[in-house]
Amino acid sequence: MSERREGNSGGRVVVVGNGMVGQRFVEALRARDHERRWRVTVLAEERRPAYDRVRLSAFFDGASAEELNLHTPDDGVELRLGEPATGIDRARRVVTTAAGEHPYDALVLATGSYAFVPPVDGTDLPGVFVYRTLDDLEAIREHARGRRTGAVIGGGLLGLEAANALRLLDLSTSVVEFAPRLMPVQVDEAGGAMLRRYVEELGVTSYLGVATTALRPGPDGAVAALELSDGRTLDAELVVVAAGIRPRDELARAAGLPLGPRGGVLVDDACRTADERIWAVGECAAVDGTCHGLVAPGYATAEVVADRLLGGAATFPGADTATKLKLLGVDVASFGDAHGVTPGCLDVTFTDPATRAYAKLVLSDDAQTLLGGVLVGDASAYPTLRACVGGPLPGPPLALLAPAGGATAGVGALPAAAQVCSCNAVTREQIDAAIADGAADVPALKACTRAGTSCGSCVPMLKQLLDAAGVRQSTALCEHFAASRQELFDIVRVRGIRTFSQLIAEHGRGRGCDICKPVVASILASLGTGHVLDGEQASLQDTNDHFLANLQRDGSYSVVPRIPGGEISPEKLIVIGEVARDFRLYTKITGGQRIDLFGARVEQLPQIWRRLVDAGFESGHAYGKALRTVKSCVGETWCRYGVQDSVGLAIALELRYRGLRAPHKLKSAVSGCARECAEARGKDFGIIATETGWNLYVGGNGGFRPRHADLFATDLSTEELVRLIDRFLMYYIRTADRLQRTAAWIEAMDGGLDHLRSVIVDDSLGLCAELDAAMARHVASYSDEWRDVLEDPDRLRRFTSFVNAPDVPDSSITFAVERGQPVPVRGAPPAAAADRRRQPVTLGLPEVRR
Ligand SMILES: Cc1cc2nc3c(=O)[nH]c(=O)nc-3n(C[C@H](O)[C@H](O)[C@H](O)COP(=O)(O)OP(=O)(O)OC[C@H]3O[C@@H](n4cnc5c(N)ncnc54)[C@H](O)[C@@H]3O)c2cc1C
Ligand code: SF4
Repeated sequence: MSERREGNSGGRVVVVGNGMVGQRFVEALRARDHERRWRVTVLAEERRPAYDRVRLSAFFDGASAEELNLHTPDDGVELRLGEPATGIDRARRVVTTAAGEHPYDALVLATGSYAFVPPVDGTDLPGVFVYRTLDDLEAIREHARGRRTGAVIGGGLLGLEAANALRLLDLSTSVVEFAPRLMPVQVDEAGGAMLRRYVEELGVTSYLGVATTALRPGPDGAVAALELSDGRTLDAELVVVAAGIRPRDELARAAGLPLGPRGGVLVDDACRTADERIWAVGECAAVDGTCHGLVAPGYATAEVVADRLLGGAATFPGADTATKLKLLGVDVASFGDAHGVTPGCLDVTFTDPATRAYAKLVLSDDAQTLLGGVLVGDASAYPTLRACVGGPLPGPPLALLAPAGGATAGVGALPAAAQVCSCNAVTREQIDAAIADGAADVPALKACTRAGTSCGSCVPMLKQLLDAAGVRQSTALCEHFAASRQELFDIVRVRGIRTFSQLIAEHGRGRGCDICKPVVASILASLGTGHVLDGEQASLQDTNDHFLANLQRDGSYSVVPRIPGGEISPEKLIVIGEVARDFRLYTKITGGQRIDLFGARVEQLPQIWRRLVDAGFESGHAYGKALRTVKSCVGETWCRYGVQDSVGLAIALELRYRGLRAPHKLKSAVSGCARECAEARGKDFGIIATETGWNLYVGGNGGFRPRHADLFATDLSTEELVRLIDRFLMYYIRTADRLQRTAAWIEAMDGGLDHLRSVIVDDSLGLCAELDAAMARHVASYSDEWRDVLEDPDRLRRFTSFVNAPDVPDSSITFAVERGQPVPVRGAPPAAAADRRRQPVTLGLPEVRR
């Protein structure tokens, strides 16, 4: 049946659903329909245009709905948002909606899936959610406010993403999974055990091999607890059900179209239903009876239907179910026959308790062909290995399985037909052809092949393929400077350049941009060329540095005084309280052990600093790409387990490195013993006390890609420790790329940690004396940026909301009251309940009490 071609057809195509695959279908059709044979109408149930559902969780990491947007306006496409299709009249070839009828010559169903909610008592309670749409995530975030416990039903891929989201919302989180391991579909038993260890270390408790039997409400009627089949009860004030998905086939069912054996709109390998005018793509389609719950096979169906509508004969190529994810900061990948079900297959496994990596390769019975594999903890080998499935191994199995083994195997071993980007089905051959045609960097490869534009896991391979083809990739900072950040740093340092104008005149072109200006500002600041607001330096800074405070979403600023090591006297605490009260600032203790004061207007900043500076505070540089805090535990002074004075060291380090400008923010912590209460291994440089001194760790961070720092040197004296940190920081500041955090800098370094050690311990480059001197200059020249502003009327003049009306406060900044503190008023109140909690008030000028 799939041999028939649609030939010269054309007319009106109605697409039902504007999810990822519906959108891809429209783009594919428009890109190839050069004669404009088809007019396109898209009916979308959601109120927002298509967005990247695969990256949905990035919403909780700060990505806005706009950043996830996939839709680009197109004059030839009528997109009807918030207008779901309610029926199909196949005889009249019309789709109905609440607003009217849409005739079609071809109809493409792209309705996706819905989240399956098992028939368990209480799943209809307030506080129970699914995890599918941006609206779901907004509702979860709203409900999480002020609550402390959350649970996820389902420990699969989606369940773990949801668990991470609850964690990011500061809920103490549990995951309940019916199977005996996490991610049972993707990973095997040993991989699941390793994953569980990682997940539990992050504070997510997993309950495996148990079912949820009921959800119970609390006194307010919202969900409060979860009952398990083994008799246990878990506290859960917010529950996410992530127990699988089901295809949305209700329209097709009602229209009398055949469905797959497990649901889904039954289509052949041309993605056509039993009605020759109706097609189905994406998760709602049961291609030859099977629904695919991943985006890559969905995209393949979209391409097939676009081709068919234009007279082609494309057929569905089959699905690659390979998955690579960063779940709760842990790399997890599975590909091919991950569970080893091929008769006679052999397993090669590798477990490294030190790096906590687990890897398994499944090989054919003669150990020559790669059939599949599982990677947990280190998935750097994934792109190479996945591309080799079905072909010969690119190296000896054990070498491939050692950490980063696959990465070092190189791309040379990849056959031409190997799929480099499985999301968009792009082969090595196509990438090589694009490079031969002149694509000289990753953005160019993305633009002409689409490789790397979906999940992004193949981007490292694209770089390797460019390298392998001998293409020298540009390191230019931006269109105004051909030099990299590192080269610019050296130019500024060696030539003694003191201004941006001089640098761009002598070594760049044009007038600069938002990329190069802050980078040069940071380089000048790192080299100690004066106050960041002096002369033309001020115009280079981004908004936070411009006002020496952190811009918030409502246009107000937050103020963070430095509290070295988190140690503070009662008198200073009282001053902070008084300032917060008098200026009516929202007050919050930060994760870095200091106090953040939110809601200040620009013109209030100097008044607030004045009070703080007079009490002995100084800027905490919370706004700058600079050292933030050196967090510490109480150490041997108070703690029974402590073996060194962690607070004393933290204060000394914070004072030494305060104000040091860097390519990215810098965080540090000191723990008084191996129990690690200060979480030093999550920092750019972390110190853990030993019986005889200090262990130094480098390259850790939290955030989007959490990473534990690596052990760099052991049992150091305080003097040795400080010397190594001095050099580490100065070498980083000199050589890192723009916005490259220490972890990424070390990862990208040729030779990695060993090279770093050779440079700053063994002085292999003969740089150490220079690095030591540079740090000595920084320490000697430090002065408080807030105080410097207060003492200079010229600098002070910058702090007005409106340049042409300096005495007028910004009236758009208004506040509501929540839990007794001022908070920004956000758009329309989301619900009547929230309405009652928040009464908008406009705050006037500070009320100063004496
Ligand atoms: C949190 C999360 C993480 C994921 N991570 C990955 C991943 O890492 N890798 C991967 O491959 N996949 C992942 N997926 C799955 C991936 O998002 C889906 O495979 C993909 O979105 C399917 O696209 P689709 O267009 O078929 O369906 P959808 O994106 O669900 O779009 C269907 C659209 O149709 C609309 N619709 C339904 N009925 C109607 C109607 N009657 N009228 C009008 N509109 C209608 C729906 O409202 C929806 O907007 C993830 C999914 C989620 C939720
Ligand atoms: S890290 Fe050690 S010394 Fe510091 S508080 Fe914890 S147990 Fe005590």
